[in-house]
Amino acid sequence: MDEIATRRTPHRKAQTGYRWDGVEIRPYKEDERALFKAVTRQVLFSDPEMQGELRYFDIAPGGFSTLERHAHMHAVVILRGRGHCLVGHEIKPIAPHDLVTVPPWTWHQFRAAANEPLGFLCLVNAARDKPQLPSEADLAELKAKPHIAAFLRGTADAG
Ligand code: MN
Repeated sequence: MDEIATRRTPHRKAQTGYRWDGVEIRPYKEDERALFKAVTRQVLFSDPEMQGELRYFDIAPGGFSTLERHAHMHAVVILRGRGHCLVGHEIKPIAPHDLVTVPPWTWHQFRAAANEPLGFLCLVNAARDKPQLPSEADLAELKAKPHIAAFLRGTADAG
């Protein structure tokens, strides 16, 4: 069965450990420029007939997604674990069933807690632009805010 046929299977059973029948675990990104740690990606729903895609990301304890921004939006539902997210200049603790919206052109990053994984669903446009990474100047501007500097060091847990 090809990938689309598999994804059109009416019922794909959940396995243990946030896996699903017919869904393979993929690397988070093929982009070598991006700095990230201990993230996997599973594409749950994607079809030429749908304008959206739903993915499941899993970040191991202490891991983090790429700090990036882009024109497309993210609609995120936390499924398991704990961590923090940066959206714009705001940092929030995140827990299961929380909802996180990333507006267009807004810096964002997800970080798992040191001792817990972080798993979340992420809805995106199927046709989307390539993420932009922060320049040195962008990073300096973000790090000028102490709470963001602490988040980027991975010490947001400590306050
Ligand atoms: Mn993104």
